[in-house]
Amino acid sequence: MWALRRPAIITVLVVEAITIGTTVGIVTWAPVRHGDWTIFGVLLAGSVVHMESVRGIERIREQARATAPLVNLTAVWTFAGIVLLPPVLAVSMSVLTFTHLRLRVALRDTFRTVYSAAAVILGTEAAAAVLNIGLPYGTYPGLPTSWRGVALIVLAGLVRWFVNYGLIVVIILLSSPSSPGKDALGSFNDNVVEVAALSLGAVTALVVSHDIWYLLLILPPLLVLHRSLLMHQYETAARTDAKTGLANAAYWSQMARAELARAERYENSVGILMLDLDHFKKINDTYGHLTGDEVLKAVADSLKKETRDYDLVGRFGGEEFLVLLPGIQPHELRNVAERFRGCIGAVVVNAPETYDRVPVTASAGAISFPEGGSDLDELLLAVDAALYEAKQNGRNRTCFAPSGSSRLPQQRGGN
Ligand code: GH3
Ligand code: MG
Ligand code: MG
Repeated sequence: MWALRRPAIITVLVVEAITIGTTVGIVTWAPVRHGDWTIFGVLLAGSVVHMESVRGIERIREQARATAPLVNLTAVWTFAGIVLLPPVLAVSMSVLTFTHLRLRVALRDTFRTVYSAAAVILGTEAAAAVLNIGLPYGTYPGLPTSWRGVALIVLAGLVRWFVNYGLIVVIILLSSPSSPGKDALGSFNDNVVEVAALSLGAVTALVVSHDIWYLLLILPPLLVLHRSLLMHQYETAARTDAKTGLANAAYWSQMARAELARAERYENSVGILMLDLDHFKKINDTYGHLTGDEVLKAVADSLKKETRDYDLVGRFGGEEFLVLLPGIQPHELRNVAERFRGCIGAVVVNAPETYDRVPVTASAGAISFPEGGSDLDELLLAVDAALYEAKQNGRNRTCFAPSGSSRLPQQRGGN
């Protein structure tokens, strides 16, 4: 933890201190009643059975995860606990469920685990506070009824989600400022799953407060739902380059073809850049393959940051990247290409042991559709020739493929 940047360390310490303070405070909110222990035990057992059944799935999800907070479905049990149990037991259940998940599925370093636990506890307490304030006197904890009750439950669920998720996103952003902010937010799909888990948590609370035995009927659909979480993983994996998180060659080409067809229909321009790192073999030889990989990841991150939402960066080969730039006019392409090369040049990766900054530059080929070629294969051939030209002319520069069918590029950029 001490290796983090100072704002991240301060955030971790403050969040943990607040958690300890509030957790001591909540004991006074509501006493533990006799029947609470049964509900506590049943929900905890449900959570353990659920998580043990999906261990294999969670392992795969954990391995494939990006920087974003990992969504799991434990809220199905813990949110029911928040609704039905006094805060001491609700928090204990969140902590036990979380601990079980971490021990059996996703063991990470202590500081991350403690911080994530603090985020879970604060989310739980904030949701319990909403219910405590919103429910008529003497009815907390318990399942609120009618439309007002449902509205209160929705509010509590949103607060639980927002506090937990917000704290995790903040620490991701503070501790790895170089990765793109929207990665930390996770996909829309992930967040929908979290909201679905909270909804199911409310339904679990309803079932438990009515007849505990019906919980057995919640498990089968829950397990099927959990398996479907992998679908999204597989879809993403099929189009992503595992090392850099960029589009892989197949997906990039597919999107590029679609974009060219669209541009043709609307008579728009599309820019394509092909970037290749200079003397990358030397980087590998001098600093080692791991540092080479680090450079690739850092370059990928900075290219992603540099692009607009509708641009697409792909990794084509070892250290070769393609950028699809819909709507970029030929005369704008030079500036864009230099901007991309500039941000590659600004990438900071330190060598192991010496901590010297690894020098990174790139050469680029640039081409415009429709001027440079009529289909993707033709454009790629020509832009590859332009890149070759940039290498031949001394590297660390951009060459533009000529308009028309001629494939002999002319050098126009450079340093
Ligand atoms: P230049 O492009 O400037 O002509 O020189 P270069 O040294 O970059 O040339 P080349 O494209 O031939 O070399 C690419 C090297 O990238 C070769 C290979 O060992 C290395 N490489 C390919 N994929 C990876 C990878 O995933 N990780 C690392 N660390 N190195 C890789
Ligand atoms: Mg190279
Ligand atoms: Mg290469």
